[in-house]
Amino acid sequence: MTSPSDLIQGFHRFREEHFADEDALYKQLVHEGQTPKILVVACCDSRVDPALVLDCAPGDLFVIRNVANLVPPAESRGSGRHGTSAALEYGVRILGVEHIIILGHAHCGGISSLLKGVDATNGQETYINSWMRLAEQAQKKVQSEIPEASVEDRERACEQQAILSSLENLMTFEWISEGVATGKLALHGWYFDIEHGQLLRYDPTTRGFAAV
Ligand SMILES: [Zn+2]
Repeated sequence: MTSPSDLIQGFHRFREEHFADEDALYKQLVHEGQTPKILVVACCDSRVDPALVLDCAPGDLFVIRNVANLVPPAESRGSGRHGTSAALEYGVRILGVEHIIILGHAHCGGISSLLKGVDATNGQETYINSWMRLAEQAQKKVQSEIPEASVEDRERACEQQAILSSLENLMTFEWISEGVATGKLALHGWYFDIEHGQLLRYDPTTRGFAAV
């Protein structure tokens, strides 16, 4: 798949598979509407499409993708363009999802740029720099805890710590913290290791990520 014409051919194959008969899933999803139970916050990275990685069907996942799968804290609605927050609001308050998964991943370009710092952009502020400040606390924690570790190890630690920061930020939205308090909503931190083909899950009791 390297060109738009490849994608159009791909669409025709998709249409044959999903729209060929009366019982097709899409017809059901159109008539009954979408009712996903799981919301996933994933990275824009082309290698970590949640529906592919988690082998899901259309209608299964409500997906938000942004650079480095970050969740901002709840903020005043008057400032900024809150794309991620708006999508969270829709998933939780309108669709009533029961689970939110922050799906981080190995070799994340966003986290890598955070660790390299603003110097990598010749001192210029970029949209990426500004966005990645959401993970600044995660970066500082990793730098203070394992300053002598290799770049790869610090990146991996920061990728995982940023997942925890996003889980904390989720709880700043009152309609999420209320859902968690009443047991209607569960939050999860997952990490897709694209190098070793493993899925790791955060365990709050051990405070670590372990393969599932
Ligand atoms: Zn990424």
